[in-house]
Amino acid sequence: MSTIQDVTSFLEKWAPLAYQESYDNAGLIVGDPQQKVKNVLVTLDCTEAIVDEALQRDCNLIVAHHPIVFKGLKQLNGKNYVERTVIKALKNDIALYAIHTNLDSVKGGVNGRIAQQLGLSSVRILAPKRQTLEKLTTFVPVEQTSQVLEALYAAGAGQIGEYKNCSFRTLGTGSFTPTGSADPFLGKLNQPEEVEEYRIEVIFPAPLEGRVLQALRQAHPYEEVAYYLHQLENSNQEVGSGAIGTLPEPLSENDWLVYLKSRMNLKVIRHTELRNKTVQKIAICGGSGSFLLKDALRQQADVFVTADFKYHEFFDAEKQLMICDIGHYESEVFTKELLSERLTENFPNFATLLSKTDTNPVHYFV
Ligand SMILES: [Zn+2]
Ligand SMILES: [Zn+2]
Repeated sequence: MSTIQDVTSFLEKWAPLAYQESYDNAGLIVGDPQQKVKNVLVTLDCTEAIVDEALQRDCNLIVAHHPIVFKGLKQLNGKNYVERTVIKALKNDIALYAIHTNLDSVKGGVNGRIAQQLGLSSVRILAPKRQTLEKLTTFVPVEQTSQVLEALYAAGAGQIGEYKNCSFRTLGTGSFTPTGSADPFLGKLNQPEEVEEYRIEVIFPAPLEGRVLQALRQAHPYEEVAYYLHQLENSNQEVGSGAIGTLPEPLSENDWLVYLKSRMNLKVIRHTELRNKTVQKIAICGGSGSFLLKDALRQQADVFVTADFKYHEFFDAEKQLMICDIGHYESEVFTKELLSERLTENFPNFATLLSKTDTNPVHYFV
């Protein structure tokens, strides 16, 4: 049987918590990590109705996109829906987990799923994140170089875009003198030693630092491993906000709106005025994405599909692109399927169920 921790570790390997925004509260919000999982209920929002549904369907773990608890809870007496949801979960031994802006930030996450839904190709991150990559430099005797590299690659280092096992090495001379209670792999106590070594450089995503260093120490023959870690300024093409991709062929604006409505299952689209141009390059951001308008403009998108645009922000399109505000819930609801697909293929020993409760707090009178 799997524990809640098995599930959360799997999800956090995919969408590391370190990629969440500073205001966020992704992770295990309620529950005991060691508890065995009966079944999992996947939802966009966690509400009291969702906890009831979990109870009815024999689920003791709810995986939601939006965290039910955002700010600190100082009292827990049921005066609002957040407290009532948490109390109900605690009383019924139901764990609450949120995979939020960390899932918005990974390439195959929320926006990757929207891109798939819209049939986009050549999909890239719209605003790649900086400072999420590190470089490891280490020094290895020539003979042990391949074993160390293999271990580093296995821990997730050396991946650049679609290329794996990337590294650079230069040959040089390492020198050291073992002292005190040292038990050196090469050389003798208190005698200066010189060894032909490779200086190896590899990059890796910052959240993998612990795993990469552990692999280094295990594979490296030396008692004391010399290494440097550097935080890189590079932007990480695999991590960041929003996405941009291309439609298989250009569409008239009217055909595009019809297409968007049917693909995303929409009742209504709020959009800026038509420009009498065809559209093909589509920027997207599930949820509140107006902060990415400048990135969509910079990358010359024809359309920006997102939600929660305010009245005055629509003017900022400056007729350079068409903003399509499709609603927050509507833009992210396919995240449920994405989560359930990933969990189902990795955990055949329990059922992952899609919530049937419509949690959209916004209703339309049309
Ligand atoms: Zn989101
Ligand atoms: Zn959202």
